[in-house]
Amino acid sequence: MKSSVVLLLVALVGLGHPAPAFAYLKFGFRLADRTIDVRWPAGPIRYFVNDRDIPGVSAGDFRSAITRAAATWQAVPGTSLAFEDQGMTAAPPGGLDGRNTLGFLDRPDLDRVLGATSLLLDSATGALVEADVFLNTRFQWSVSPQGAAGFVDVESIVLHELGHLIGLGHSAIGETERTASGGRRVLGSGAVMFPIALTPGATSDRVLQADDIAAVTDLYGVDPARASTGSIRGRVVKNGRGVFGAHVVAFNPVTGTLIGGFTLSADGEFVLAGLQAGPHVVRVEPLDDADVESFLSGEVDVDFGVAYAPRLVVAPRGGSSAAIEIPVDPK
Ligand SMILES: [Zn+2]
Repeated sequence: MKSSVVLLLVALVGLGHPAPAFAYLKFGFRLADRTIDVRWPAGPIRYFVNDRDIPGVSAGDFRSAITRAAATWQAVPGTSLAFEDQGMTAAPPGGLDGRNTLGFLDRPDLDRVLGATSLLLDSATGALVEADVFLNTRFQWSVSPQGAAGFVDVESIVLHELGHLIGLGHSAIGETERTASGGRRVLGSGAVMFPIALTPGATSDRVLQADDIAAVTDLYGVDPARASTGSIRGRVVKNGRGVFGAHVVAFNPVTGTLIGGFTLSADGEFVLAGLQAGPHVVRVEPLDDADVESFLSGEVDVDFGVAYAPRLVVAPRGGSSAAIEIPVDPK
């Protein structure tokens, strides 16, 4: 889900019984003591495009923008991800009809939500079964190659929603400030999967960033890409106890990239995967620069100051670092 100023969680629907959504770098939900990845089974992800035209964007334009965004995800090297356009349909997105459908809907009630993705998954395995994406006609949309001031860029938002469709949650690599209307404005974003959209007219979110690429490589990576990346794992602790919902970021001083994740258990455990092998600066910060519910459900602890791993941490090629412990202090 991506909104102009404030973000809500993507609807995550359990097959059989509803599972709480644990959105993080990837989605993944807790089953007993395990976090299960949410992803598509092997093979192409087939989708239909709703045939509705809206002012300024024909159904054909919309379909072409989806093709471009799908190609952008598919172009990440070393992944098995593949999309397959099944053609146009009169069926709107949202119904559970066994088809993945993308289209526009009139949702004047969701006055800050640009678009959303609903996912149906098998809550025993995490396998995705169906996904639908809608963009909200409450906003003015454009498919202009260079963008159009005041109009939201279809391709950028479709790229974000396709990220959800393949199983990614929101990234917290970005910075916002409060606006007078109570929303948030993006000051800088380091991921297409950041939950708050850029100013209408911007097109820079047509391009994936390091954090997006790490996430898709982690979820759909095949050798040798998997073998050339590594992960860093550890715990964030405060007063000897685990911290839930801390934002953990790895900075690669060679590439200058930021890749983030969250502590996802009461023990304060985290894994940052899909990192370029090599040394990283690891920083922990509270999730207090955005709306927490855009990222995680549960009791997120934001009462601590920024802290760093005591030394550089190496993500080994094809493997994981030894567990590191990062102590934080209450504010
Ligand atoms: Zn979103």
